[in-house]
Amino acid sequence: MASDIVYLNGDYLPMSEAKVPVLDRGFIFGDGVYEVVPVYGGVPFRMAEHFRRFQHSMDAIRIPNPHTDAEWSKLTHDLVARNGGGDQSVYYQVTRGVAKRDHAFPAGLKPTVFMMTGPLKVPSREQVEQGVSVISMTDFRWFKCDIKSTSLLGNCIAKQAAVEAGAAEVVMFRDGYLTEASSSNVFAVKNGIVLVPPKTHLILPGITYDVVIDLARNAGLPVEVREVHESEVKTADELWITSSTKEVLAATTLDGRPVGNGKPGPAFKRVLQGYQDYKRELQLRAA
Ligand code: PMP
Repeated sequence: MASDIVYLNGDYLPMSEAKVPVLDRGFIFGDGVYEVVPVYGGVPFRMAEHFRRFQHSMDAIRIPNPHTDAEWSKLTHDLVARNGGGDQSVYYQVTRGVAKRDHAFPAGLKPTVFMMTGPLKVPSREQVEQGVSVISMTDFRWFKCDIKSTSLLGNCIAKQAAVEAGAAEVVMFRDGYLTEASSSNVFAVKNGIVLVPPKTHLILPGITYDVVIDLARNAGLPVEVREVHESEVKTADELWITSSTKEVLAATTLDGRPVGNGKPGPAFKRVLQGYQDYKRELQLRAA
């Protein structure tokens, strides 16, 4: 079956046979980091950038990177091929390893390396054309959101609130300023200007965030990377959410009220077109 073969500590095996000891610090403490790379037609999207962020996450929590980028790349291509190629989303996880339970980092552990793939679930045509609903919430997470940590409890609680409200995402504010959503970055458009918070410890530095800033600028839209006040978001003409699997989507209602005229806006359409062209170009170049 496609997507059934995973990689664990040097071996390729069926998901059902992949086992990790209960004392793995990933299980006990969420002491690990992860990445997700979308693969279109067998071609990984912005893989080097994802590996750079993976390195940043490992450095931040002092886990030695068990592989070079060339090795990660080979593992990626092998795993995708073993699962039938095509469009997939590849998940990578490195935890500190297995040790007697103790909060402090034990020395000399061998990191646990796990990878799996799944079908790439890009947004439906309806979501792209009509936009999605989002709700807002106070950002109650920690101050190291730049680390792509497997400790995602805050993000899970936030996403659950969105699901229970029938929304696709939850847009979060800390001290009156926009941070991000539970699993995506957030852009606002006001008076023709694209506003997005800077990459600080308060948000994950999204790979799609970088792509979308470039595409917006290439489309001639002014982009201001700066703190974005809650009032600017709540009165925005357009809101966008971005991530590797959502790509770029318009949020057309916020807390049940329409954003702008309640439809994906003109700036969104330009960036979406740019995103689609960019993906096509990458695949042509790889072919
Ligand atoms: N913020 C959070 C909290 C996320 O989980 C994600 C998804 N990885 C993003 C932003 C978007 O990042 P990317 O564009 O690299 O997928």
